[in-house]
Amino acid sequence: VIFLIAVMLFVCFVFPLGYAWRVWRLHEPTLGTWALVVADASVIVALVLLVGRWDMAGYYTRYLLLAVFVAAVLWSFGKHKSRNLRADDAPLIRTRWTTLVSLILFGSALAYVLSGMLPPAQPRALGFPLKGGRFVVAQGGGNGLLNHHANHPLQRYAADITAVGSTGFRAAALLPERLDGYAIYGASVISPCNGPVVAARDDLPDLVPPRSDSENSAGNHVIIDCGGFNVELAHLQQGSVAVEVGAVLSVGSLIGTVGNSGNTTEPHLHIHAVDPQSGAGLPVAFDGRVPLRNRRFVNW
Ligand SMILES: [Zn+2]
Repeated sequence: VIFLIAVMLFVCFVFPLGYAWRVWRLHEPTLGTWALVVADASVIVALVLLVGRWDMAGYYTRYLLLAVFVAAVLWSFGKHKSRNLRADDAPLIRTRWTTLVSLILFGSALAYVLSGMLPPAQPRALGFPLKGGRFVVAQGGGNGLLNHHANHPLQRYAADITAVGSTGFRAAALLPERLDGYAIYGASVISPCNGPVVAARDDLPDLVPPRSDSENSAGNHVIIDCGGFNVELAHLQQGSVAVEVGAVLSVGSLIGTVGNSGNTTEPHLHIHAVDPQSGAGLPVAFDGRVPLRNRRFVNW
């Protein structure tokens, strides 16, 4: 896990900066080849900015890197704007065919990612389930590049949520071994709907990353009947669950706190909605906003 996080952080920093540097230094013979190279670089940077885990690499870092890249494009455009659109003797396809192939491949990948960000049909309206911080969706969206639950029918629309501190990072290290090293650990979990509790458990231990409990995948959890569909909130802190089966909750009432119980790589809140009859996963929106990777919900 720690290796994957390191690779992800490397990609998040090196790709946007590397492509900004490349665009900054461009000396293309025509405006046409310049536009092709810049389009290819922009598509790759857009992919990294959309798919990257910016709760880990820094929520504000993402905007800083975007600003650096845009500045490089503007600077480079200033140098190229008076050049001819194309040269008569060298067609675009012959001089820059590798760039064209790259643009088609990464452009397709970007289209696929964007398709996973389209709003799902009829999301169930919920309140945001956390209080007391700046929260960021770590896993959420309509396909596997944005949401590791997406290929699991029951949890197709599930979301994993972390929190970031004032500087925009979810923790001060790659994978701290102290649970309170994660901004979200201990955050208040609140009811996203009105309705009775149908299941509650809080006897499982909070595990130190990278340990996890694959036999009790949800860990400590609460399931609420939100009126025609059930919502499950998972990986709660041991001993923190403040509600019992049968208790009728209203939006915003305290359920417990975020822990690290069950099958989890690090402290976060997992939430999903299901149709209790069919068992099918249902899309949700928190205060009208669908949980998509890197979307922020501030709730103090
Ligand atoms: Zn999850």
